[in-house]
Amino acid sequence: MATLDKTARALFLGELLSGLALTLRYMFRRKVTINYPYEKGPLSPRFRGEHALRRYPNGEERCIACKLCEAICPALAITIEAEPREDGSRRTTRYDIDMTKCIYCGLCEESCPVDAIVEGPNYEFATETHAELLYDKEKLLANGDRWEDEIAARLTADAPYR
Ligand code: SF4
Ligand code: SF4
Repeated sequence: MATLDKTARALFLGELLSGLALTLRYMFRRKVTINYPYEKGPLSPRFRGEHALRRYPNGEERCIACKLCEAICPALAITIEAEPREDGSRRTTRYDIDMTKCIYCGLCEESCPVDAIVEGPNYEFATETHAELLYDKEKLLANGDRWEDEIAARLTADAPYR
């Protein structure tokens, strides 16, 4: 009986037709796929992407070289050197992140008392060489300048839940 059923289905192309019917049904439904990279899906305000060092609106860098982020980083990815400026404020002279060591845990951002180091919304920073993922202070500040609007909006959206 089972053999007969199988033969009938093969003869009348039953599986092919049910497959085509399924395709036809889904053709008119809302698509769940997106045309990346031209279209992008929504990101959570808590998304942890590429790192950035932020500035205050007057252009002064936020980081006060307390080194909490360096101390808490479980991957030992952050290296900071600091010295006082002429005005007596303490600033970093070196702020490096080895992005190939980073595990995107977000602890550096959580530990920062002045919201200086953050993980921004950018996830498109793949490179061809290892050296390009060794970020220095200049690169991190440039990231901050580039993504400040998105980062500020993200922090505001997440603030009520903290
Ligand atoms: S996200 Fe985590 S692993 Fe990466 S630099 Fe920050 S603390 Fe270190
Ligand atoms: S980024 Fe924040 S936690 Fe890290 S050294 Fe600067 S002020 Fe301290």
